Amino acid sequence: MEMVNVKINGIAVSVPKGSTVLEAARAAGVEIPTLCYMKDINEIGACRICVVEATGARGLVTACVFPVAEGMEVQTNTPKVRAARKTTLEMILSTHDKKCLSCVRSTNCELQKLCLEYGVDEGAFAGYKPEYELDTSAPHLIRDNNKCILCRRCVAACREQHVAVIGANNRGIDTAIGSAFNMQLNDTSCISCGQCINVCPVGALTEKDDTDKVWAALADTTKHVIVQTAPAVRAALGESFGMPIGTNVEGKMVAALRRLGFERVFDTDFGADLTIVEEANELIERVKNGGVLPMITSCSPGWVKFAEYYYPEQLKNLSSCKSPMQMTGAIIKTYYAEKMGWDAKDIVVVAVMPCTAKKFEIGRADQSAAGVPDVDISITTRELARMIARAGLKFEALPNEEFDNPLGEDTGAAVIFGATGGVMEAALRTANDWLTGKDNDKVEFTEVRGTAALKEATYKIAGMDVKVAVASGAKAAKEVMDKIAAGEADWTFVEIMGCPGGCVNGGGQPIQPQYIRDTVDLKAVRAKALYDADEAAVLRKSHKSPAVCELYGDGKFFEGYGCHKAHEYLHTSYVARKKY
Ligand code: SF4
Ligand code: SF4
Ligand code: SF4
Repeated sequence: MEMVNVKINGIAVSVPKGSTVLEAARAAGVEIPTLCYMKDINEIGACRICVVEATGARGLVTACVFPVAEGMEVQTNTPKVRAARKTTLEMILSTHDKKCLSCVRSTNCELQKLCLEYGVDEGAFAGYKPEYELDTSAPHLIRDNNKCILCRRCVAACREQHVAVIGANNRGIDTAIGSAFNMQLNDTSCISCGQCINVCPVGALTEKDDTDKVWAALADTTKHVIVQTAPAVRAALGESFGMPIGTNVEGKMVAALRRLGFERVFDTDFGADLTIVEEANELIERVKNGGVLPMITSCSPGWVKFAEYYYPEQLKNLSSCKSPMQMTGAIIKTYYAEKMGWDAKDIVVVAVMPCTAKKFEIGRADQSAAGVPDVDISITTRELARMIARAGLKFEALPNEEFDNPLGEDTGAAVIFGATGGVMEAALRTANDWLTGKDNDKVEFTEVRGTAALKEATYKIAGMDVKVAVASGAKAAKEVMDKIAAGEADWTFVEIMGCPGGCVNGGGQPIQPQYIRDTVDLKAVRAKALYDADEAAVLRKSHKSPAVCELYGDGKFFEGYGCHKAHEYLHTSYVARKKY
């Protein structure tokens, strides 16, 4: 590889030819501020916060797109650079709705941080300021263009998902991000993934906050308010309280939920184990009876919505299993309600999820085992963090507590659901045992691990070649689905997650500034917390979960895997949606 020698603030560094000034600066340990830049995804030099002085260049250059040359000397912190950045920030603020006191992104806002650092004058420029109505049409997201700084990161993230339902409308000072013909987001084929929220540097995009509904339920003494938490939440919640990325805070999270007043704290891992036994059973049935293959997982509501909009002809490939969240809710409102002598109507199930699409999923049809919604309220990891803060709980100081039983029991197979490849590995553990009729020692299927967007593997199980594929992010999903639609796929089983890296990188997880997103593999570090938990688990196969076993068999709740009642309570259906 041809290298180029440059100096950044006098620090000598050698970088590959073609590198930008920003990349060279990062290699030299010098951080240059950015507002629009996203590595490999949005390199458009639009915000002009990253300007620097460089020898051989006329005037200031934008570090994120300007290439280095042999012998170039770059200065990132001169009076001229600082003045230019300050003026740019003041111009951004001239059209910005400055509501830092109440903004959900305050203290975690990339614009606010820079304004403080550069000592800007909020009122330096005044003039025409467009006023925008909030787009609150979708169940998962609110767009407030009064705070938008037109960095276009959301547009790039949505395009990267191969959904591309947002872009710039109008011209000049009236430029605004929105959908074609200014349609409301809910009228488009948005898949509710929330990836746009995670990259927004400011408070222009936020999840729809449902915490008031949870506070109201908790205050209602006529209700049994039960919470369940998805595996990926424990791997990221600590970030909201300044803990290192990848810290597993399961015990403190449970303690916090109990102190918030939930009557039972259950684990969605239970539902993940349940999903695996129903899904593995469905797969084996399809293989034995010539059913539609490949069978594709259905736990990610962002992915399911993507399939409904973009691949309606292939919906028959999706497993009919509800997601672990919905299965857990269904069992709470049927089996557990029966056990406790409670009326399902008096139970409020709150789900804490790493995902914004779950807010859409809870309102889907055919998700009501007891005649009432399986799950009543879905909040994100970020919303839970806000509730913990509002309740005055010192998260770091909380003790480690255990989930309530029986629906808090889980296996290692369930906890890895939060990472791409986790559902596949969990399913393979069970299918391997069931097809061979043995309790196999092999539990690790490492070929399907890792953060690559698309992974493939072939396993010899009971004399059969089982070909599998794992895709995460809608871009990789499209690659897989195009092959299936063209009849060119020979996979037996496919796992697809709507978000790149799976749920650990879901649209509801704590927001890290873009500098961290560019330099730390969040997906891998958070996933490691889950794989470590799996390795430490005593039980690592879903069909060994005592809570799941308790549901099936002689005279128990279900007559067997995939029985009529299990179908009624734990399976669902899909609808072809019109794409806009
Ligand atoms: S987006 Fe940032 S600068 Fe704007 S109101 Fe919110 S916290 Fe303040
Ligand atoms: S939620 Fe996902 S699909 Fe919808 S606009 Fe945002 S990035 Fe695009
Ligand atoms: S909504 Fe956020 S990410 Fe999108 S252009 Fe505006 S500021 Fe940037």
